[in-house]
Amino acid sequence: MITFTREQNEKSPHAFGEFPSDKKSLIDALTSADAQELMIKADAARKDFCGDEIFIRGIIEFSNVCARNCRYCGLRRDNKRITRYRMTVPEILEAAAALAQEGIQTVVLQSGDDLGYSRNTLSDLIETIKAKFPGMAVTLSVGERPLDDYRAFKDAGADRYLLKHETIDENLYSRLHPGQSLKHRLRILAHLKKLGYQVGIGNIIGLPLQTTEDLADELIFFKDFKPDMIGISPFIAQQDTFLNHFPSPSQGLVLKFLALTRLMVCRALMPSATAIGTLYGADGCLQALRAGCNVIMLNYTPLRYRADYAIYDNKKALGLREARTIISSAGSKISFSRGDSFCLPSGRLPA
Ligand code: SAH
Repeated sequence: MITFTREQNEKSPHAFGEFPSDKKSLIDALTSADAQELMIKADAARKDFCGDEIFIRGIIEFSNVCARNCRYCGLRRDNKRITRYRMTVPEILEAAAALAQEGIQTVVLQSGDDLGYSRNTLSDLIETIKAKFPGMAVTLSVGERPLDDYRAFKDAGADRYLLKHETIDENLYSRLHPGQSLKHRLRILAHLKKLGYQVGIGNIIGLPLQTTEDLADELIFFKDFKPDMIGISPFIAQQDTFLNHFPSPSQGLVLKFLALTRLMVCRALMPSATAIGTLYGADGCLQALRAGCNVIMLNYTPLRYRADYAIYDNKKALGLREARTIISSAGSKISFSRGDSFCLPSGRLPA
């Protein structure tokens, strides 16, 4: 864990960098700032506040069963074209053993919103992982559940929770997530923070009807929320959804947005999302690291299930060897440590 000098804290007491965070400046930056310049600043902010390591996580996508109907996502409940799967607890433990074997110390357990795994089943799973793999951090990304479940999972030993808010625009949120509300999602996020999880939020860039103004609002929300982690993905069409012909955003816009995110929340852990590698290849992943990202997630979902975790088309998976090459091309160091939050506890701001 990095400790901050008084000078660093005084220079940037909220770790928000020096980039102006009013809406107009952010809109100007998104539309006309030079991407390379922003990336240089973001890269410096990452190094100053998080050090020069890129953290490796292993993700297991253990179920593609989903109760929700998010319009952009291939796992949506009404999609009858994908084969649904649920990994058994022994299968999940086997996948966890594979990543532990490589020395990875964070397992991310992700699924559709699948209440087929009860509170007890998931709590037992977390406890077993903690007992079998000492020192392993457990990150959950299992969507919306009854509030009491989150406490049970925390008590069982879960360390972190990823629940992307997807878009901070209430209207757009309602249109894209039938039957769900942004207010409820934010209520869950506040609850997770209160329970002491390291909390990850994040959005999708390039959603239909999304404007530059909306993206500026995202950046302002990142700053206000003070998350430990921020996951940002470009939109990618999925063939079985209503948005199947909708284009993805340009790499330039995504890089600018990542860089501005880093400048808004200097201490956040930010993965270079799989969607970035899928759209823009290994070079896209490298550029994302240069734009301020400092986490790479490797996929440990068993091959027999991987194609069915079809959140978007042609989803790629990065291997450890490729990750090493990308990280060394970025001039950074690979880290297998737990890579806990850089934010400070209790309100998460330095004294
Ligand atoms: N059920 C969990 C996990 C959802 S899948 C939850 O709700 O948190 C993980 C992420 O995939 C989502 O948060 C969403 O941001 C992303 N995703 C889904 N469909 C996508 C698409 N078409 N393009 C880009 N990202 C997508």
